Amino acid sequence: MRFNRVTAEVIERLKRIVGEDYVITSPEELEKYSIDEIEERYRHLPEVVVKPRTPEEIAAIMKLANEYRIPVTPRGAGTGLSGGAVPAHGGIVLSLERMNEILEIDPDNMMVTVEPGVVLADMMRAVEARGLFYPVDVSTLESCHVGGNVAENAGGARAVKYGITGHWVYGLEMVTPTGEIVHLGGKRIKDATGYNLVQLVVGSEGTLGIITKITFRLTVKPKYVLDLLIPFDSLENAVTQVLGLLREESSLSAIEFMDSLSIKAAERYLKLTLPYDDSEAHLLIQVDGMEEEGIWQAAERVYERLTAAGAKEVFVADNRLTREKLWRARRNIAEALKALNNYVSVEDIVVPRSKIPEIARRLRELSQIHDLEVPLYGHIGDGNLHPTPVSGDRDEETWIRDLEAFLSDMFKAVKELGGNITAEHGVGIKRRKYLHLCVEPAEIELMKAIKRAWDPNGILNPGKIFPVEGTC
Ligand SMILES: Cc1cc2nc3c(=O)[nH]c(=O)nc-3n(C[C@H](O)[C@H](O)[C@H](O)COP(=O)(O)OP(=O)(O)OC[C@H]3O[C@@H](n4cnc5c(N)ncnc54)[C@H](O)[C@@H]3O)c2cc1C
Repeated sequence: MRFNRVTAEVIERLKRIVGEDYVITSPEELEKYSIDEIEERYRHLPEVVVKPRTPEEIAAIMKLANEYRIPVTPRGAGTGLSGGAVPAHGGIVLSLERMNEILEIDPDNMMVTVEPGVVLADMMRAVEARGLFYPVDVSTLESCHVGGNVAENAGGARAVKYGITGHWVYGLEMVTPTGEIVHLGGKRIKDATGYNLVQLVVGSEGTLGIITKITFRLTVKPKYVLDLLIPFDSLENAVTQVLGLLREESSLSAIEFMDSLSIKAAERYLKLTLPYDDSEAHLLIQVDGMEEEGIWQAAERVYERLTAAGAKEVFVADNRLTREKLWRARRNIAEALKALNNYVSVEDIVVPRSKIPEIARRLRELSQIHDLEVPLYGHIGDGNLHPTPVSGDRDEETWIRDLEAFLSDMFKAVKELGGNITAEHGVGIKRRKYLHLCVEPAEIELMKAIKRAWDPNGILNPGKIFPVEGTC
């Protein structure tokens, strides 16, 4: 597949669509849109950045891009970890940053309708001010955009009880790759009318359309929340306890895991100290509910079960400051590892929850075989872990060679255990060469057929999920 370069004529036509101020060509500005939170080696410059304000402008941009066969890469806040917003084939980066209004909070239907460039935490605060609750707690909530959340089907800590982004998306307005504005789904709680295109677009990584409006369902905010930090002397023991907890407690909204390497990195980076930081592993558990007594009883049961099973202590955080400190540490592990090492690779595997102890054991083994330090943390209550190999003092070439050997062994282990290569960060450019390891060829062909049908010229976010034909 061949793409064309952005010409002076295309720039002029883009300026007529969005206005001169919103067509960016200066090299320093283009640089900012050439990477997300993926590793530096994936950086690729766009030829132009456009910042439209309306779906009509986006439709006109897509028609123009089809006419000239120019690639278009949608971009939210650029916090993605798989290179989804990197313009891997150059062309136009289409930034949704100016489409950032909360359009309607509808208490009767318990729904909120927003533009894609709204920052997640802003939407959460706005609905909470109206007595409602949006529960998907992505770690980058203070910076990521809700459009990026939908495009990646973002998860986060509270998926144990509340699910992931896709569970809350009911309606979408979208510009198709060929430049039509379409409305999918709506405020209906039940709808069995034809294919569920809303859920096809969720998690499509900006390859099937540009999302211009989202209607999210909301729920009732739990009145009481407690966080429990539970240190263990044995990593195996910590991870093994998760299954019993899930079977017996319905009030747990998060079960997070951090090994000692991760905790130490967060402490160094944030200059704070966590309780029992000499332990081999910690669980961070959240309990929430409408009755104060109920959540304390649940915490008591967790305490009894886990101390009987060998936990060193159960540290209860019941005030805002302590709770924030614990979650700040957990949310900043990836950033800490990046800041403290030359090269890191944030991974995002998922296995059936029954296989959590086995994958933790295999990861340890692989870390030893490959002589690679692999801090381990993640949303263990969902079977979703973020093994994050770090380079130590390797040069870049040795690092990439050793990393790739580790990753292909890791993904083979994940496949054997019935897992998959990504749970919430997406395939992007980072994992496309590993897709075939865990996804069968017929499923990949069905995905490619959908892409061809929706985007016949292959110009929307090319090179993501699968490579562009004729390239590697
Ligand atoms: C430290 C750290 C912690 C993280 N923690 C989590 C976590 O807990 N859970 C989790 O799920 N993720 C996490 N992430 C990953 C990231 O924050 C999420 O994937 C987030 O949803 C990306 O949103 P964004 O606005 O930054 O999107 P971007 O990075 O800008 O884009 C992501 C993808 O969405 C597409 N896209 C963006 N907007 C649109 C649109 N309007 N229409 C169509 N496509 C669009 C882009 O083309 C790209 O493919 C973390 C990242 C970091 C750096």
